[in-house]
Amino acid sequence: MAVSITVDAAAAGSGPAAGLAPAVFIDKDGTLIHDLPYNVDPARVRLREDAGPALARLQQAGYRLVLITNQAGLAHQKFEEEALQPVWDILASLLGLYGVTLDAIYYCPHHPQGSHPEFGRGCDCRKPAPGLLLRAARKHQLDLARSWFIGDILDDIEAGHRAGCRTVLLDVGAETEWRNSPLRRPDRVAASLTEAAADILAAAALAGATMEMAE
Ligand SMILES: [Mg+2]
Ligand SMILES: [Zn+2]
Repeated sequence: MAVSITVDAAAAGSGPAAGLAPAVFIDKDGTLIHDLPYNVDPARVRLREDAGPALARLQQAGYRLVLITNQAGLAHQKFEEEALQPVWDILASLLGLYGVTLDAIYYCPHHPQGSHPEFGRGCDCRKPAPGLLLRAARKHQLDLARSWFIGDILDDIEAGHRAGCRTVLLDVGAETEWRNSPLRRPDRVAASLTEAAADILAAAALAGATMEMAE
């Protein structure tokens, strides 16, 4: 998207924000893994077929990889917080087969209608709110303007844009409502994670070329 590239080029005087790394934020259910609602059984966790190689390309290109997931099952008391650790562990094992390490995992345990005494409330971190991305950016010193969010529904896209990132919609049929607004319009639409990774790397290459021309 030309506007974003121009913003990158405009910052070229001092280079990309000093010391800050770009990230690719990734939704979990339906994007990184096949979606089984409220599943916390590690034996049933399946990576999307091309997730390993696609994330390996992004990590090798210098992107931090940060998982961003709504876990309303906690608010609805479908499972306990401790049940998530085996899921993170199996994800680490499965991605490790491809040499990929997630830099961080952020989840929102809340839901406004949840029955859980602590988690049954509104919050600033349930996507489409950007709270998880903003927390990740502060903690891990991420350059949000050079970062991307890959997700399979428009709430992911909106969260990415609210945080100041660009976005790729992995269009695999998960989005069914298509409530539209400028914030919910993805910068790219991809049919696979392979394509999403290629789109992100192509945009970065183009931004690099534009920065060179501006110098
Ligand atoms: Mg999803
Ligand atoms: Zn939350």
